[in-house]
Amino acid sequence: MTPADIPGLPPGVPEFLREEGIEELYPPQAEAVESGVADGESVVASVPTASGKTLVAELAMLSSVQRDGKALYIVPLRALASEKKAEFERWEAFGVDVGVSTGNYDSDGEWLSSCDIVVATSEKVDSLVRNGAPWVDELTCVVADEVHLVDDRHRGPTLEVTLAKLRRVNPGLQVVALSATVGNAGEIADWLDAALVDSDWRPISLRMGVHYGDAISFDDGSQREVPVGRNERQTPALVADTLDEGGSTLVFVNSRRNAEAAATRLGDVTADYLTPDERSELSDLAEEIRDVSDTETSDDLAAAVAKGAAFHHAGLAAKHRSLVEDAFRERLLKVICATPTLAAGVNTPSRRVIVRDWRRYDGEFGGMKPLDALEIHQMCGRAGRPGLDPYGEAVLLASDHETREELFDRYVWADPEPVQSKLAAEPALRTHLLATVASGFARSREGLLEFLDQTLYATQTDDRSHLESVTDTVLDYLEANDFVERDGDGIEATGLGHTVSRLYLDPMSAAEIVDGLRDADDPSPLGLYHLVARTPDMYELYLKSGDRETYTELCYERESELLGPTPSEFEDVRFEDWLASLKTAKLLEDWASEIDEDRITERYGVGPGDVRGKVDTAEWLLSAAERLAGELDLGSVVSVREAKKRVEYGVREELIDLAGVRGVGRKRARRLFEAGIETRADLREADKSTVLAALRGRRKTAENVLENAGRQDPSMDDVEADAEATPDPTFAPASEASSDQASLGDFE
Ligand code: ADP
Repeated sequence: MTPADIPGLPPGVPEFLREEGIEELYPPQAEAVESGVADGESVVASVPTASGKTLVAELAMLSSVQRDGKALYIVPLRALASEKKAEFERWEAFGVDVGVSTGNYDSDGEWLSSCDIVVATSEKVDSLVRNGAPWVDELTCVVADEVHLVDDRHRGPTLEVTLAKLRRVNPGLQVVALSATVGNAGEIADWLDAALVDSDWRPISLRMGVHYGDAISFDDGSQREVPVGRNERQTPALVADTLDEGGSTLVFVNSRRNAEAAATRLGDVTADYLTPDERSELSDLAEEIRDVSDTETSDDLAAAVAKGAAFHHAGLAAKHRSLVEDAFRERLLKVICATPTLAAGVNTPSRRVIVRDWRRYDGEFGGMKPLDALEIHQMCGRAGRPGLDPYGEAVLLASDHETREELFDRYVWADPEPVQSKLAAEPALRTHLLATVASGFARSREGLLEFLDQTLYATQTDDRSHLESVTDTVLDYLEANDFVERDGDGIEATGLGHTVSRLYLDPMSAAEIVDGLRDADDPSPLGLYHLVARTPDMYELYLKSGDRETYTELCYERESELLGPTPSEFEDVRFEDWLASLKTAKLLEDWASEIDEDRITERYGVGPGDVRGKVDTAEWLLSAAERLAGELDLGSVVSVREAKKRVEYGVREELIDLAGVRGVGRKRARRLFEAGIETRADLREADKSTVLAALRGRRKTAENVLENAGRQDPSMDDVEADAEATPDPTFAPASEASSDQASLGDFE
């Protein structure tokens, strides 16, 4: 089947696909088309990584838009939303408007009405549904990427419930679910009333094997000698072996720290293989990476990249990730060491994949837990670049004979696990039942159970009684906290319940926040940061060794600021949680006190992406707290707003006004302030040469800032920076080169 054989696409698209190098559809793609994916039929495609799932989705969306419909593409990670949007934007040449919905959960995204294709995470879609986004009922096609993630304890239930709701709102909705190869794709297809394309076809053949001793043994019975010297490790030997053949390697490890350490070590291997040209290109790339942020992570990444190796994990800034991925695809970088988190979404095929760590620390499991075969297979699926490599090789590492046998049994010969709904767990139901009631999908206990009947959970279980009993427990909780009211069998959300649902809060977070806010009329920022940090909506920082003492001390020192009663030291788990939240709160307080980003990452042992994540979550939770305080007429509303602004901009109180001007950010605000320009209004009146000096002579920036502050004539023509007006050097970053880097506070 060729692109020209696909029905219903916008004119010109088949030719365009051809130009992109798609001459023939891959067999699973052709099967999806035969099942009607371009005619509005629902399809579940369970196929290996890198076998062209995205095109299946694009065919569905484009043909749906061509029939005057509207499509939604649900991504599993926020980091992937803009990447997918950028990928789909090439369809704008065919009159298809593409929009991405990120940002806060509590808006209805009205502007998306005009888009033909919307890209969003499942959390965002869920929130759009809760907020009654006017275009949700216009959807004709929904794509769920990585639908096997319904199995994920934390995020799966949202995807599951969201798909059920969208199908309920739009009875004729086409659902295209893309999945890795899983054990029970048929069940997913049954649930979604979809045709099933279940295939293990790959565009390039894959050999899986285990390295032990001096050789890799592959699943096809072949062996490859890769000797490892006495004091040598397996990974560098395998990386060098791939490089000898001109190939690149992707190494999967189990933690960020390990990814960084491995990349640093492997840089010594790759450095020997670089040509002078590559060396100079890599050194330019390293500079670019350094410029992304002022942190140790950024410096470490740059140092590894200069030698031809990189690490890749969720603690990196998005710009870091895309620079690394592009350079790897261009074969400039020879090795990436990655954590599994991003294995699924990232399109970075390589000749060889090494799965170095197949166990990961799991707190709930209480130790190192083997990864699922599904996850390992997805990592292995990254091996082999179509058109570039003759084959792909995935290699697991064993240090003794028994492990070698175990790895073969557990992963090489094993089928991936079946996907299991995680909906019946209490935290998931708490959130989703309230939302289901609040947005009118159900008005009684029976109605709720009927709605739940449309979920994968219901497809997978004959035992209705378990779901019923959890539902009852959750309803009791919601009623006790005044989120719903019951009258006989009827259930209605209270005003508070509606607000909580629209704010996208876990009801337990909302209850915690409301209790905390009732405790003080004028809470301090630290008190508020601690309050939101201890809700289930904020992932806690781990307490490392020594932290218990540090934060116990801090806890007593500042106990009067903390909202609600501090648990006793003898309540081990609760006290430990309390301290972990205090650690997060202290990080936020540091950020809001203008402590440098790299000092923060060092002090708390986290990456720049983590700081950003905590800041974003805190900002969102504090906005929610502000709304709740307003709704309940609590005195704390002003303090909450101020604490939110400070964390949003990363500034002390006196800079809130200035930092709110677009293009200013924390560092520039501080320099302006030190030069005597203290408010937005000051910017409109200030001497331009002072402004220019405070902004380090950057004319374009200065003009933008003045314009954004509402100045009549922002032009900087003929203005000279006033050297006398240079601000207090204690706030000036070390060197000119780093002063305007987009560190967190200068994000725009
Ligand atoms: P998946 O989502 O299944 O992991 P992708 O959709 O990212 O895989 O596809 C992997 C690569 O294969 C992409 O670079 C894509 O352009 C290419 N590709 C997809 N379909 C075809 C085809 N029919 N012919 C040639 N290349 C294709």
